[in-house]
Amino acid sequence: MTAMKNNLTVSHADMQELPQILRIYECARGFMKKSGNESQWKDSFPPESLLIEDISAGQLYVLKDLRDGVIHGVFAFIVGKEPTYERIEQGGWISGTAYGTLHRVAGDGTVHGIFDAIVAFCEERINHLRVDTHEDNRIMQHLISKNGFQRCGIIYVEDGSPRIAYEKTAEAEGKVGRNNMNTLTEKDKELIVQAQKAIRSNYDEVSYNHTVGAAVRCGSGKVYTGVNVYSLHGACGEQVAIGTAITQGEREFEAIVAVRGREGEEIIPPCGNCRQMLFDYMPECEVILAVNGQRKKVRAKELLPFAYSVEG
Ligand SMILES: [Zn+2]
Repeated sequence: MTAMKNNLTVSHADMQELPQILRIYECARGFMKKSGNESQWKDSFPPESLLIEDISAGQLYVLKDLRDGVIHGVFAFIVGKEPTYERIEQGGWISGTAYGTLHRVAGDGTVHGIFDAIVAFCEERINHLRVDTHEDNRIMQHLISKNGFQRCGIIYVEDGSPRIAYEKTAEAEGKVGRNNMNTLTEKDKELIVQAQKAIRSNYDEVSYNHTVGAAVRCGSGKVYTGVNVYSLHGACGEQVAIGTAITQGEREFEAIVAVRGREGEEIIPPCGNCRQMLFDYMPECEVILAVNGQRKKVRAKELLPFAYSVEG
């Protein structure tokens, strides 16, 4: 049993608690329907037989209030390979190390911080978590993102219906979450050089007087470059670099930079169009900027507050 803030404790569920657990799932299904998510659990998920299996296997947990023993939340947590996660589309998992999966997360709606407590509990057991949710379950999507998970792609559950898949890894946090954004790494400095080289070797004759070179570093470690192409309906250097990377199958983006000038001596910020593209494709990507002569990095999403999102 692990004590949490807000007096919640997490413990293994036992058979005597099944009626209370079923009631919580009923509450959760009612809430899902009310909030426009009718298809995720429909009228009966999870079936009692599955919960009995979960309890027998020691993989169903309840969140109880320490003070009165009332159960406010329930979830399954399974360490090991999740068969439906073998196939992932429109993206990919960040890490291939052993992981634990959160399933069947539900609360009775009376206590805040249930999901935060669940994530904290699971992270103590294994520092690599995966979870999925329905595209109509906006509340869960928000909670998952808020807890530091990254959207990885689309998986298909047993009945063949799609779910958005998320992952939280210590590795990924080390890579994109805990960097010192005021210090450029050697790799970042190399990225600037690559953008400068793009200008020198590939400048576009038509837009010669305003040539921009851009370089994007992908999760694969590869760097793709681009220059702006401004004849008629043109494209920015960043867009060419990102488009090239996507064409080559890249889906994860670590850092991007754009430079201008004959020698690419000036680091420039992305234009409004590019900010939207960065937001859509790579909200967590680091953007290298020069602010008051100081080089620093910001997350792409920070460059577009109150953004329009294709995800709604
Ligand atoms: Zn642009």
